[in-house]
Amino acid sequence: MIRAAGLTKRYGGTTAVDDVSFTAGPGVVTGFLGPNGAGKSTTLRMLLGLEEPDAGVALVGGRPYRALGAPLREVGALLDAGDVHGGRRARDHLRVLARSNGIPARRVGEVLAEVGLAEVADRRIAGFSLGMRQRLGIAAALLGDPGVLVFDEPINGLDPEGVRWIRGLLRGMAAEGRAVLVSSHVLEEVARTADRVVVIGRGRLLADAPTAEVLARF
Ligand code: ADP
Ligand code: ADP
Repeated sequence: MIRAAGLTKRYGGTTAVDDVSFTAGPGVVTGFLGPNGAGKSTTLRMLLGLEEPDAGVALVGGRPYRALGAPLREVGALLDAGDVHGGRRARDHLRVLARSNGIPARRVGEVLAEVGLAEVADRRIAGFSLGMRQRLGIAAALLGDPGVLVFDEPINGLDPEGVRWIRGLLRGMAAEGRAVLVSSHVLEEVARTADRVVVIGRGRLLADAPTAEVLARF
């Protein structure tokens, strides 16, 4: 379970996130919808403990979460897929993450297969397309078999087949009881994937309701 309570973040004179509260519960895909610049990434980064809120609290499983140094077994996150050490091979990248998080090495092969990268696992990440990097980021998020998944704009860079794949993956993760929080600026995509939708605009919470209700309003 993820809980944002009164989250607020200011950059200079701009209030990027303004008193945002919502929860994302287990067994549910919660969509986080808003146009570019609305404050989605900033909110997710605060939830993951990667950014310090100016006010409010972010709780994951009832306590503050600190992604840096924290076990990948609790929370799997896809943030900026471009931000991976390009000189490494995909398998080695995951091996390092697994080792430093106390995750059994066999998970590396499992997640590579799950995201469709088994055949390119021994190639260098530098030669990967954005879609392949997204898949690798997702593999990293799944590595520790976490109960909570946070994906920021996962469809970026994916082709239509990849978009369908992500949709099925997120639905499957929720069906297994995980809490899934997924951001997007594409209403149609959120509508097809999420059970509930939290809408944010200019840093403020605009709606938090079942998908059908949100579709009727926006
Ligand atoms: P979204 O993810 O919805 O596109 P962001 O959370 O990235 O939105 O950005 C929200 C607002 O905060 C934007 O106006 C953006 O320019 C600003 N912002 C985000 N990160 C920073 C930063 N590190 N420094 C200054 N402004 C920032
Ligand atoms: P480095 O840049 O030193 O190789 P990483 O950026 O790979 O380090 O990871 C630093 C820490 O951030 C990891 O120990 C892990 O706890 C966390 N982390 C990295 N990727 C993820 C992810 N996909 N989900 C959650 N936490 C992550």
